[in-house]
Amino acid sequence: MNAKLTDFTTATATATDARTQTTTEPMFDDDMTPAEFRDACEQYAEYAVEQFDTFEPVDMDEVTVEVSQRMERAAGKAIYKPIQDDLTIRFAVGAYEKWGWSDRMKSTIRHELVHCVQYIKKGDADHGIGFEMMADKVDVTKYCDQFTDYKYILMCSECGDMVGGRHRKSKIVTDPEKTNYVSPCCRATLESREA
Ligand SMILES: [Zn+2]
Ligand SMILES: [Zn+2]
Repeated sequence: MNAKLTDFTTATATATDARTQTTTEPMFDDDMTPAEFRDACEQYAEYAVEQFDTFEPVDMDEVTVEVSQRMERAAGKAIYKPIQDDLTIRFAVGAYEKWGWSDRMKSTIRHELVHCVQYIKKGDADHGIGFEMMADKVDVTKYCDQFTDYKYILMCSECGDMVGGRHRKSKIVTDPEKTNYVSPCCRATLESREA
């Protein structure tokens, strides 16, 4: 009787420990090499998928994680190739160099995982209402995947994508809707905010 009870207790304790271990957030430095940064992104993504029910459709074994030195505007990007059924998330080394392993970097990774869920569920990704509902639950904004040296960001008023930037205040920054500029994505008026 006693032995049985002990066995039961041991088994429970082991199971609990295992779970605690896998849900501990992985921590990283601010001076990783690009290769280390890539590994960190992958490990954090695996952690986030485990942590949030929202990411349940995502199987990180099926997602390629890449980093790029050439991305200058997007800090992260989710790319889906339907024919190959290939899902890739790519992160900018420049964003990491600017932000370090920060909350902003981590929310960028969660942001791209939201796009992964969209691609898996509907074959398409955007920053619409469905994005906002999921983004709320995993604490990301639609802006967190953009990094730039600009002081002001110009965005499409329709879909929220960044379409450009300015280093100083001008009419397009203060009154973007009063200019003739339209976004290339939706042909909509522009909005601005501080970067
Ligand atoms: Zn996005
Ligand atoms: Zn747009």
